[in-house]
Amino acid sequence: MLSENSPLTELKGIGPKSAEKFQQLEIFTVADLLLYFPFRYEDYKARSVFEIQDGEKAVVTGTLVTPANLQYYGRQKNRLCFKLKQGEVVISVSFFNQPYLKDKLQLGSELAIFGKWDSKKTALTGIKLLAQVQEDMQPVYRLTQGVTQASLVKAIKTAFESGVLERLPETLPQVLIDKYRLFSRKEAITAMHFPKDLAEYKQALRRVKFEELFYFQMNLQVLKARRKSDQHGLAIVYDKEKLAAKEASLPFSLTGAQKRSLDEILQDMRSRSHMNRLLQGDVGSGKTAVASLAMYAAYSAGFQSALMVPTEILAEQHYESLTQLFPELSIAILTSGMKKVAKDTALEQIREGSVQMIVGTHALIQENVAYHKLGLVITDEQHRFGVNQRRVLREKGENPDVLMMTATPIPRTLAITAFGEMDVSIIDELPAGRKPIITRWVKHQQLDAVLSWLKKELEKGAQAYVISPLIEESESLDLKNATALYEELSHYFKDSAEVSLMHGRMSAEEKDSIMQAFKEQRSQVLVSTTVIEVGVNVPNATIMIIMDADRFGLSQLHQLRGRVGRGDKQSYAILVANPKTDSGKERMKIMTESTDGFVLAEADLKMRGSGEIFGTRQSGIPEFRVADIIEDYAILEEARRVASQIVSQENWDKEKDWQMVLKNLKEHSIFD
Ligand code: ADP
Ligand code: MG
Repeated sequence: MLSENSPLTELKGIGPKSAEKFQQLEIFTVADLLLYFPFRYEDYKARSVFEIQDGEKAVVTGTLVTPANLQYYGRQKNRLCFKLKQGEVVISVSFFNQPYLKDKLQLGSELAIFGKWDSKKTALTGIKLLAQVQEDMQPVYRLTQGVTQASLVKAIKTAFESGVLERLPETLPQVLIDKYRLFSRKEAITAMHFPKDLAEYKQALRRVKFEELFYFQMNLQVLKARRKSDQHGLAIVYDKEKLAAKEASLPFSLTGAQKRSLDEILQDMRSRSHMNRLLQGDVGSGKTAVASLAMYAAYSAGFQSALMVPTEILAEQHYESLTQLFPELSIAILTSGMKKVAKDTALEQIREGSVQMIVGTHALIQENVAYHKLGLVITDEQHRFGVNQRRVLREKGENPDVLMMTATPIPRTLAITAFGEMDVSIIDELPAGRKPIITRWVKHQQLDAVLSWLKKELEKGAQAYVISPLIEESESLDLKNATALYEELSHYFKDSAEVSLMHGRMSAEEKDSIMQAFKEQRSQVLVSTTVIEVGVNVPNATIMIIMDADRFGLSQLHQLRGRVGRGDKQSYAILVANPKTDSGKERMKIMTESTDGFVLAEADLKMRGSGEIFGTRQSGIPEFRVADIIEDYAILEEARRVASQIVSQENWDKEKDWQMVLKNLKEHSIFD
């Protein structure tokens, strides 16, 4: 008897050769095959020609009223023509290069043809002659070399006939199936492949999505609950008065959102459970200011704190600002590029505890670093400080509270849901008195005018970034574009300004040194690919010009624009674009209308869906098999609610229903 784990070769008609091909689709077992869902469906329902749009593909039925005429022209080329009558309408049908169909066409017979409709000529270009009118939706699967639609459908049908489906265990507790009126697992799997109609398909999809999102949320909630109930974290009993005095001595007062976030962080630090918090806020919203105060709080309780950033230049930047903010403290910087002597000194100071704060790159979690009462780790941008890094620190005997900062604006509700295992603080308010960046959208034809304006601004002492067009998936073209732009601008500004170039093929050191030169105003114009995105701060740079800006998504444009507007001078963003699509135009327009990252993120989500925005796993938002975090937001939210409800009950893990879920949790885990 076959089981869900039986290899494919045990199915009738599947030999080792085809099994190997299926493996490329990650189909190894009979269950894998049953769970390999179509990515779309072809609707072969016959339609009246009056309902079909010009150029649309559809199934047309009718009676054959003329004999089929086969003409050959050229070598190997032929055309089969005949007329079909649907009601009172006579349709001219042509099939190209399918001469063998002629035998199947008998005068007076009823035909169903899938083809492309031309309403002006009342003609149909046939694609496929259907054996009969198919009322069902036909599944369409993703394929790979050597696996055709037909072979996949056949294999799946064989899997259905093998009886394995009957023995597949249910993966959701009955209480949830009842509560949400979901299909059983068997019903859902059957209907995912061969839905009777759209309504049935939707029901099946809802069940499958719910299951995926429910397990996702259970994973998050279980992790979170474990962390919260684990009281082996540090209680960082900071000095309230000292901290208040420090806060009062800042040259500005914190915004309401900063105060709220700081309070949330301090509360976590004080408690015995581990802090695992995400601090989210637009560029310049004052995250670093909040983080610095949290570091100060750790210091006041006698703990070291560490700030980890993605690049050396950012490390230096933060080192300078912390030193300015806390002149009374000893602060160390640690990066992999440092000279050995300096590094050894820093390592020694860290070990003996003569420094209270440490700023650095990934070097901070390397083996040779020994901390002295490390209480708080803060990471800035881009890296997900995950389970692994935590473990590295724990193995060094440190178990600090962790705060992650990110400037990727994610709408509040979505952030809370997606980062379910973390707590989230959001700074959704900019400090008062910021001059909003003036954003203009110009066409390529106006580039000359832009450049002569730029020349004048440079003469007044401004600096500018110029971002070269993004060529997706082609780093070499990116580079070519950037280089061409660099040469053009170097020529244009040869008597008036220094132009430099930065791109992704450069080493970290090269990039750092170019950034440093720009910061020190040794160059005035920096041409760059999007590698500039990471949070570099050059307050004197007030102009951001983005070439072919319509190739970028809103969130990315917003990140790029955030490189300027960091000082008290008026800043400008110039989007150079001749967008061909409506959505391109729309994006340019939204950019000129809003500088609010959350508004833009929301618009971006609506326009593009989550995949493209969050893309990789790096962002912390996982990719789902069937669910879409935006489209299925309502299900996600419900899954979160029910998961957190379950986990918050005492002894929930002793109950039969949830034990089954726990058992399945591992398989469903999206965490490495
Ligand atoms: P982020 O880390 O979110 O990009 P920062 O903390 O670096 O933002 O703040 C950006 C700039 O704004 C810094 O120069 C900082 O000193 C200043 N700043 C931070 N908070 C405030 C505030 N509440 N009022 C005025 N300026 C502020
Ligand atoms: Mg704590």
